[in-house]
Amino acid sequence: MPAELIDGVAIAARVRQRVAHDTAALKALGVTPGLTAVLVGNDPASAVYVGSKERACKEAGMHGESIRLPASTPEVELLALIDRLNADPAVHGILVQMPLPKHIDSPSVIRRIAPAKDVDGFHPFNVGKLFTGDRDGFAPCTPAGVQVMLEEAGVDTSGKEAVILGRSNIVGKPMAALLIQSGKTADCTVTICHSRTKDLASHTRRADILIAAIGRPEMVTAEMVKPGAVVIDVGINRVDDPSAPKGYRIVGDVKFDEVSRVASKISPVPGGVGRMTIAMLLANTVRAARLSIGG
Ligand code: NDP
Repeated sequence: MPAELIDGVAIAARVRQRVAHDTAALKALGVTPGLTAVLVGNDPASAVYVGSKERACKEAGMHGESIRLPASTPEVELLALIDRLNADPAVHGILVQMPLPKHIDSPSVIRRIAPAKDVDGFHPFNVGKLFTGDRDGFAPCTPAGVQVMLEEAGVDTSGKEAVILGRSNIVGKPMAALLIQSGKTADCTVTICHSRTKDLASHTRRADILIAAIGRPEMVTAEMVKPGAVVIDVGINRVDDPSAPKGYRIVGDVKFDEVSRVASKISPVPGGVGRMTIAMLLANTVRAARLSIGG
């Protein structure tokens, strides 16, 4: 039987509806949640991401603003801008789009953002809260979105073997931190795999929940997946396809056609995790706004 689809488009739409509802409630109290995205340089993909974040904010009734700086901006100027945004009561969430130009030290920039406005959840203060299970911090948007997808798809995670492919600070590690906590949509036994992992398939075949975040087009094949597993594909990879209108198509890290015949539930690419990331960014921003008034 083919796997049930975990529809990121529908789940993200529900998250955004809740965000719009919470935004309206905050506005009634005189607070308009505001997100400021900072983009340094002209990377076209980053410009698209920042533009869609700003649009999504406006659709939810929030204040969305993008500040674009030239690639030559000195680090000290970027830090000064962050200080101003930290002090601005109309700004509840600050996002600095990565990657930054090489002359700027990204960790210093991330550390400069006030933890209460760090809606990306990358500040070490929020990373620490995530690992210790302190729920008043901010979790990075992509893994937080995966957890919401598991919840909305009715996946029972308690006591399950979760195997995560990838150990990045934005996906793999925080994903593990979320799933090892005690509580709802967590309580997993977690394995993280990476490029040095030996015999990858021996790990993936044990997984009740398999989360792929490696950036390798369609690397996860059916024989790597335990029958009945829940498979979440975080990967977004562009592969050449002369028959496609743009000459390429987007695929995940999972070979969808064959894995969907083995898994019980699976998220597609596109239409899966990608939609959740912005939705969770909005959700974090609304929460930051609520926390700013002690709510
Ligand atoms: P990174 O490149 O930062 O990390 C990739 C990870 O995968 C690394 O830990 C790497 O190991 C591991 N890896 C690479 N090759 C292999 C392999 N052959 N076997 C096992 N592990 C391997 O990527 P990100 O975490 O930023 O992103 C991962 C994917 O998710 C990308 O496709 C990205 O586009 C996508 N993504 C999607 C988002 C969304 O909104 N849906 C948001 C963020 C990312 P090592 O550490 O040893 O190098």
